Order: sequence, then structure tokens, then C-alpha cells
Amino acid sequence: MSLEKADAIVIRQVDFSESSRVITFFSREFGKFGALAKGAKRLKGPFEAGLDLLSECRVVFIRKTHGTLNLLTESRLMARFQPQQQGISDGLNRLYAGYYLAELLNGLTEDFDPAPELYELTTATLKSLSTPDCQTSSVIIHFEISLLQQIGLLPNLFECAVCGCPVEQNARFVHWVSQGGLLCQSCRREEYAGSTVSTGAIEILRRMTESSAELAGRIRLTGSQAEECHKLAVSAITGALGRRPQTLRYLQFTP
Ligand SMILES: [Zn+2]
Repeated sequence: MSLEKADAIVIRQVDFSESSRVITFFSREFGKFGALAKGAKRLKGPFEAGLDLLSECRVVFIRKTHGTLNLLTESRLMARFQPQQQGISDGLNRLYAGYYLAELLNGLTEDFDPAPELYELTTATLKSLSTPDCQTSSVIIHFEISLLQQIGLLPNLFECAVCGCPVEQNARFVHWVSQGGLLCQSCRREEYAGSTVSTGAIEILRRMTESSAELAGRIRLTGSQAEECHKLAVSAITGALGRRPQTLRYLQFTP
């Protein structure tokens, strides 16, 4: 048992009793962890507004051992996720984009496995989703691709997974989902499940991996480019999660 401090984003809330909740955080210092927040459901509870979904807070908690619940003792709000402010026309859709981020972090990271870069990516993405002139679909694709890259599941975007030939303009490639790679035309087999991806989309995805969330938000994509990039990312994410993300059905994916 030890007292710990962390900068953390609320990614899940589950009711525990009449007045308490179990909160799942994604933190800079510890990665994902859950903690019991006693009194969190009371209007004038000890944490007040510091535990809204996707809020960034500075928290103090008692870390328990042997599988018992960690106990939250303090939470101070640092930044609230505000995609529905004035000047943002698709605010509701951006809110769903935030829920999608939270679902991916919850499903694709392990408890107490620190990933500070992923934390930075998440706070930067939430900030971009609250910035009026950022393009929502570009910000989402950037997060998907960067997350896959950081957890080591991004397909190699430079060469064929079988023969190693480079991905070049005007060649036809297929995303081979089960092996997490791209296949050139001559290595493609009927029995490999996959869908064709254009070299244009692969080029965009490469650019995304080299951009910050803020810069990526300024990349203007056509509807078909966005759809193609998002489809490849979702195939890889679905493979990693073992199911299609549930929040995707609420997300309107238009540029
Ligand atoms: Zn090949």
C-alpha cells in the first residue's frame, strides 16, 4: 500500500454503490489504473467536478496490492474536455470522438503499464478536438494511427509484408489484417482476408505518423481519402481489440 500522485484523464466511470464510483484513469505516470472514488456521486462530493469523463486531473490515490481496489483520495481538475463550445459546429460528433479515444485507451492498454508518450498524444488530441479549425476526421485518424504505432501494431507502411518490395506510387496493395501488414499484388492470395488500399492513402498515413495532433488536424482530406485511412486503422484496431469498437457507431465519419 502506498500513496501515489498522477496526472490522469478519466476514461471510464462505473457506478459502485449509491454514492461511489469506480473510475478508470489513463495517467502519465502509471498508464491505466482503476480507483474507487467514495462519494463521487454526491452533488457536493469530495471530488466535485474533477471526475467528468475525459477531464484531465491531478489525482492522489492509495495504491493497494493483491487485487483490491485502489482508493482515490484527491482529484483536482486541470482541463475539461470542451468540444461543444461556441464556434465548433460538429461539437457532438467531437464529443463522441472523445468517447472513442477513451474506449481505445481502455481496451488497448494494460493496468500500470506507463506510456507517457501515449498520454501526451491523448491530451494533444483532446485539445485539437476542442479547437474549432481542426478537422475532426484528420484528428481521429492521427490518433488511431499514432496509437497503433505506439503499441506496436501499426502495419509497416513502407514495404510488402511477404516479399519486402517497397510501396511505390501506382502499385496496388492490400491490407492483410491478420498479419498486420501490406501485401503487394504478386503476394496477394485469395485466402488472405484483406482490402485494397491505395498508395495515396498509405502516403497520407505515413504523413500522419510524422505529425503532431495539432498539425494533423490541419491536413484536409477528401471524403474518400478519410474513409480509406480510417478503414485501414479500424481493421487493425478491431484485430487488436478482438471486436469492433462500440463507440464507432455514434461517430459520424465525414471530413
Ligand atoms: Zn510482395
